[in-house]
Amino acid sequence: MKPYNEKLWQVDLSEMTAEWCGMFVPQPKVEDVVAGSKRRPHTSFGYNATFLYPKKGGIQVLSQALARGLDVRLNLAAEEIQWRDKMVRASNGGSLDYDSLVSTLPLAELLKRMPGLPPEVEAAKAKLRYTSVLCINLGVKRAKISDKSWIYFPEKQFPFYRVGFPMNFTPHIVPKGCSSMYVEVGHPPDKPADHKNPKFLKSIRSGLEKAKILRKSDKILVADFIPIRCAYVIYTPERKKNVETILKFLESTGIQSIGRYGAWKYSFMEEAIMDGKKAAEKISASNPASTSLSPSV
Ligand SMILES: Cc1cc2nc3c(=O)[nH]c(=O)nc-3n(C[C@H](O)[C@H](O)[C@H](O)COP(=O)(O)OP(=O)(O)OC[C@H]3O[C@@H](n4cnc5c(N)ncnc54)[C@H](O)[C@@H]3O)c2cc1C
Repeated sequence: MKPYNEKLWQVDLSEMTAEWCGMFVPQPKVEDVVAGSKRRPHTSFGYNATFLYPKKGGIQVLSQALARGLDVRLNLAAEEIQWRDKMVRASNGGSLDYDSLVSTLPLAELLKRMPGLPPEVEAAKAKLRYTSVLCINLGVKRAKISDKSWIYFPEKQFPFYRVGFPMNFTPHIVPKGCSSMYVEVGHPPDKPADHKNPKFLKSIRSGLEKAKILRKSDKILVADFIPIRCAYVIYTPERKKNVETILKFLESTGIQSIGRYGAWKYSFMEEAIMDGKKAAEKISASNPASTSLSPSV
């Protein structure tokens, strides 16, 4: 568990429970650990030893397919939820009335936008903790810089905890003669990585060279930095009780807060889609005739 999880979670591990491990951390038998120390294991471990990925168009084809035929408004933020009046105020000044609201905003962000919360919900909200990730997407001018899907880096000498290679998921998402990779760097929310400083990318590059992924002669064609402020929910001992208090309150106001960040849990894309399906089924079961909204956004 150490030092990898210290790099990922960015907290003293004694502040966390092991509840999140569940399906995410393989639990090999002692014999497997001993055998693995002697030779490369033949069997694969973990929930994602095999996975499906769209052949063309990147992972966003999933959301594009789900959105087909729906009225989706992008670049529009929910600024305030007037939960007593069942109305959302949007960033363009418009508003949206609702009977049922499904939110995938990080739970703490949703609550921040709901003025007048009951004191026990305010208290539970104050205890929600998370950690941040800077995701660096790199395009490199050399084909097949790795044959792996992704690699974990527990060692402190590397600034990143994981590096992945989307070009190995499908060849259709990288130009010929090039490679693509994502590099994930964990940090506490209040200590963001200084990625605008050229020294930062240099330190990432030097780590990738040390790991023998990049060569000195390699040319980085593209470097795209994506800060993910709320990236991993920290499983503190009081998380479960506080999340239950909050979700129960939201439910009583007609709001379903779902998904990895909405339900404040460690989760993955497949589960997010299933959570959405369950939320839709719950709404149609409680009111089969309801479809109408009154948007003015
Ligand atoms: C570094 C990292 C790597 C990951 N790798 C994998 C992986 O390999 N495989 C996998 O299955 N899962 C992976 N995950 C998890 C996966 O990304 C999540 O489980 C999934 O995105 C959750 O979907 P969601 O719809 O619940 O939330 P999100 O995808 O976070 O969607 C929430 C949406 O709400 C929007 N939003 C926020 N605030 C507002 C507002 N005020 N108004 C309107 N909209 C707002 C956000 O812009 C966002 O689009 C990874 C996560 C991280 C952080």
